Amino acid sequence: MDSFNLLIDGRLVAGDATMPVVNPATEEVLVQCPRASVDQLNKAVAAAKAAFPGWAATPIGERRKAIVRMAEVIEKNSGELARILTQEQGKPIGDATAETLGMAGFFRYFASLDLPMRVIEDSAGRKVEAHRRPLGVVGAIIPWNFPLLILAFKLPPALLAGNTLVVKPAPTTPLASLKFAELVADILPPGVLNFVTDANDLGDALTHHPDVRKISFTGSTATGRKVMASAAETLKRITLELGGNDAGVVLDDAKPKTVAKGIFDGAFQNSGQVCLAIKRLFVHESIYDEMCDELARLCEAAIVDDGLKQGTNLGPLQNKMQYEKVKAFLDDARAHGKIVAGGEVIDRPGYFIRPTIVRDIAEGSRLVDEEQFGPVLPILKFSDTDEAIRRANNTSYGLGASVWSSNLDRAHDVASKLEAGTVWINKHLDMAPHIPFGGAKTSGLGVEFAEEGLAEFTQLQVINMAR
Ligand code: NAD
Repeated sequence: MDSFNLLIDGRLVAGDATMPVVNPATEEVLVQCPRASVDQLNKAVAAAKAAFPGWAATPIGERRKAIVRMAEVIEKNSGELARILTQEQGKPIGDATAETLGMAGFFRYFASLDLPMRVIEDSAGRKVEAHRRPLGVVGAIIPWNFPLLILAFKLPPALLAGNTLVVKPAPTTPLASLKFAELVADILPPGVLNFVTDANDLGDALTHHPDVRKISFTGSTATGRKVMASAAETLKRITLELGGNDAGVVLDDAKPKTVAKGIFDGAFQNSGQVCLAIKRLFVHESIYDEMCDELARLCEAAIVDDGLKQGTNLGPLQNKMQYEKVKAFLDDARAHGKIVAGGEVIDRPGYFIRPTIVRDIAEGSRLVDEEQFGPVLPILKFSDTDEAIRRANNTSYGLGASVWSSNLDRAHDVASKLEAGTVWINKHLDMAPHIPFGGAKTSGLGVEFAEEGLAEFTQLQVINMAR
C-alpha cells in the first residue's frame, strides 16, 4: 500500500509519529499511518486561520468551481479510493465504490447551492438585508463507519460558505481521507483545507481550540456530550450527529415476504454499523413468526467475507473494540432471547460476525435498550399500534425510524407519532443531499444536508439601513 501524509498549510507532511492501521478482514497491519502531534494540530488551525480572510473574500463562484473540481477528482479516482476504503473499513467493494461516488454527489450538490442576500424589508422607513457570512475555522470530526461519505456531509458546505477547515478522521479509518487530501491538495489555496490524524487523542484539543469557530461532529452520543462541553468555553457553533436506536414498526397489514428485504438492508447494511440502521424491530403478533422466519432466511443466505472478494454481502466489523462490543451483545441475546439465525463469530482471522436475528426478546435487555452498532437485530412482539408507538419512543435516542404497512394513511399516522428526526414509510436508510437530516433527543443537535445544513456553516448578519 502507498504511503500517506497529513495536509497542513497546503503541504503534504509526515506525522510527528506514526500509528498502525489494521485491515479488519485479516487483522494485518495495512500501513504505518502518520499520527499528528498537538503541535501539528495547532499548525493546521493556524494555517486555516491565516487562509480564512482570503478564502472568505473569494467570490462564491470560484469556491463553487473548486468544489466541482474536487468532485471530478473523486470520480476519476473512485476505484483507488474505494479499494483503500474497503481495506481499512471492511465494507464490500461495491458499497465502497457507491460511498465514493456518493461522496462526489454531495460535492456536486453543494456546489449547486447559493447563499443569496435576502431583503427582509424595503420600505420608506428602512431597508433590512439578511446576509450569510462564513464563521471562520471549522473543525470536522469523522467516525469510522462512512469515512468518505461523512466527510462529504461537512467539507463542501463548509468551504462553499467561505470557511476554512481542519478535518480529523477516525483513528482506525484515516487512509482513504488522507488519499483524498493528497488528490485535492493543489485545488485550494494553502491552509484552506487541512487534514490531521490522531490515535483518539486530538479531538479534545480541536474542540477546545480558541481559534476554531465551529465543530461539525459525527460520532457517538457519549463523545458528542464531551464536544458540547468543550465547545461551551468558547461558545463555538456545533452540529452534532450522534448515535441512534432506530425502531422499525411492522403493522399487522404488512406482508412479511414483501418487506423483509427492505428491513434486512435497513438493519444490516455496513454490517449494522450505521447510525440510522434499524436497531429494534417491533412486529405485530399476527405476523411475528413469519417475519422472524423471513429475516432469518435472508441472514442465512448472506455471504460474509472479505470486502475485496466479489460477491461478499457483508464485511467484518470495523475494529476490534467494536467486535468485542458486539460479541458482548450476542451473549446478552443468548441470555434474554432466542437466536434464530447467525449468533456466532466466524472462526478465522478478521472481525467477522454473521448477521443475527434474535426473537422472543424484550426491553430490559442490553440488545434492545442500547445501541448495538453491529449485525444483531432484536425482534420484539406487539399487540396494538399505540403500544408499539409508546415502546418505539421509549428511548433517549431519536435519530430515525420506519413504519411498514400496506396502508399508507395508517403508516403516515404512526410515522407522525414517532419521535425521530427522519421517519421512513416502507423503506429505511433512503438519504439524499437535498433532504435535511438531523437527530431528535440525544441523537443530535442541528441539521446536515440541504440548504438547512449549509446555513449551519454560516453566521446570519442583518444590515439595517435608515432611509
Ligand atoms: P466516537 O464518538 O468514538 O468517535 C467519533 C470521532 O470522535 C472520532 O474521530 C474520534 O477520534 C473523535 N473523538 C474521540 N474523542 C473525542 C473527544 N473527546 N472530542 C472530540 N472528538 C473525539 O464514535 P465512533 O465509535 O467512531 O462511531 C460510532 C458512533 O457514531 C455510533 O454511536 C453511531 O451511531 C454514531 N454515528 C452517528 C452518525 C450520525 O450521523 N448521526 C453517523 C455515523 C455514526
